Amino acid sequence: MDMYHQQTNDASSHVFLMAEDCPSDAELITQMLYQAFGDSYSVVCVDRFAKVVEAMENGSFEVLILDMGLPDRSGVENIREVRSLYPNLPIVVLTGHEDIETAVDALQKGAQDYLTKNEITPEVLSRSLFYAKERKQIEIKLKQALEDSAYRNVQLEAMVRHDPLTQLPNRIFFHDSARKILHRAERFQKQVGLLFFDLDGFKRVNDTYGHLVGDSLLIGVAGRLENIARDSDLLARLSGDEFVIITDLIEHREQIYPLVKRLTKSFAKPFSIERHEITVTPSIGVAFYPNANSVDLLIKHADCAMYEAKKSEEKVVCFYTEEIASRFARSQTVELELSNALAQRELTTAFQPIVSASNPDKILLEALIRWTSPVLGIVSPAEFIPLAETTPVINGITKCVVTDSMELYRSLGEDLHRLDKIAINISSTQLATPNFANQFQRWLAECKLPADKISLELTEHQILHNSELCIKQLNIFRSLGMSIAIDDFGTGYSSITHLLDLPLDILKLDRALIDNIDNNPRNQAITAGIVEMAHRLNMKVIAEGIERPEEYEIALELGCDYLQGYLIAKPMFLKQLTDFYNT
Ligand code: C2E
Ligand code: CA
Ligand code: CA
Repeated sequence: MDMYHQQTNDASSHVFLMAEDCPSDAELITQMLYQAFGDSYSVVCVDRFAKVVEAMENGSFEVLILDMGLPDRSGVENIREVRSLYPNLPIVVLTGHEDIETAVDALQKGAQDYLTKNEITPEVLSRSLFYAKERKQIEIKLKQALEDSAYRNVQLEAMVRHDPLTQLPNRIFFHDSARKILHRAERFQKQVGLLFFDLDGFKRVNDTYGHLVGDSLLIGVAGRLENIARDSDLLARLSGDEFVIITDLIEHREQIYPLVKRLTKSFAKPFSIERHEITVTPSIGVAFYPNANSVDLLIKHADCAMYEAKKSEEKVVCFYTEEIASRFARSQTVELELSNALAQRELTTAFQPIVSASNPDKILLEALIRWTSPVLGIVSPAEFIPLAETTPVINGITKCVVTDSMELYRSLGEDLHRLDKIAINISSTQLATPNFANQFQRWLAECKLPADKISLELTEHQILHNSELCIKQLNIFRSLGMSIAIDDFGTGYSSITHLLDLPLDILKLDRALIDNIDNNPRNQAITAGIVEMAHRLNMKVIAEGIERPEEYEIALELGCDYLQGYLIAKPMFLKQLTDFYNT
């Protein structure tokens, strides 16, 4: 039997394709179709599976009526084939007597319905064709919906794993991928390098040009980074201006050098953003697996190395070394010991006298925290304060200083009227905490310490980086009667005009400016300039770090209002202090 066509002329007729090699069966089905649809149908009948494809190329059909046993190909595999070639074509399978197993199999492979040859009636046939079409429609819609939601999931996934600003992988993505890279490195006994870096002066760009320019700069940086990282390197933005690149598996550490070079070189040219030419340089820390054997440790090592790079004037890149490792280990120990130090009452406050040039009878003191650890001995605040600043311990320290200041205040007795101010040092992280001013006020209240006897010392750096919030808190402090002093003034980056808008009372000259000032005309000129400006702005000036009589004389001559330093007195505890003021 060849391909033949049972044709009617009705334009709205149903068009079927039938694959059936047994002529009598084909005739029977055609008869039934006629009974079911009258003149409004047509059927193309083929007797080989190969001809199904041929017919499909020449016409379109509502349903394929498919005999399971065709001479060239038989079995349910035919269904799979039809389905993959014509996913929208409904299939009704014809099976022999009692061949229910094949029928079920056919349905599972993608046929929409089946008919058992000797049970077919015109009604059964027409209903089966109708349902096959319906089912196919539902199937198509369902498939579409699933694909849509899968697509949305992929998009959602991409959003969760990418930084919306730069489109780079974010922290989550980075950690997942980095963990996998380390697993591979472990399996293949290879190394992995990690570059961790941020942008020097990025905050200043934000402050000077605004956040939109800052954002554009980050996008520009990300663009350049994408050009220098190879496909096998993983680049991510961890937060703010912090980026990270983790290499693929490497044999030797030296293999990371070209990447480091490309990275530093990519910052050589300025970034053009809204007609500004902005130059930023990265500080890069490098660490290696298996030296650090987890993603977190790898980042920590690289972060430590980056910190070294930041501290140094000339170094852009720092590798994590044994030296850094031992410093890091020390900082870990200090941090650990420090966390118990407050509870164990290992901290006390020393007070260093400050002399007023106009009225030597006045009592002014700077409160300086002291720590004697049973494990580490005496630890300098210059070492532990920076560590405390990143934890709540810093507030415990300030509270301790406030409490000790209260003791001092009480101990003054008859001399209380001589007390001008007790200066307390405040950290940047504290000033950047929204309710710090209120908290500090509560501590003073608890200790019954009058606020107008307190002066707060902050570095210029601290205030300029968080202008709005800081100024708000500084105003609260001042409204309570406290004075505000800028510590270590005169060597920082900010110009004096930066400070004009800030609510300040005192400038405290950096010790470096006073050191050997009698032999340094330049520092004398700078100091004279600062003093002049401060007085015009109604501010007082303190010269600190005075160790020699010559320095004392010059500082006085240049108009400093207050003097502080080992020459006058070292920081001391309460008992020595009463002796100091009574002799
Ligand atoms: P700072 O605020 O600049 O404090 C002055 C430092 O100079 C003190 O060091 C003081 O002992 C030292 N000093 C005073 N006169 C002289 C001198 O004539 N020559 C020399 N070479 N040094 C002098 P110290 O006590 O080691 O404190 C170091 C830093 O730790 C302080 O620098 C301050 O930034 C911080 N710090 C100390 N106590 C606290 C505190 O309670 N809270 C906070 N946030 N920081 C504190
Ligand atoms: Ca100070
Ligand atoms: Ca200082």
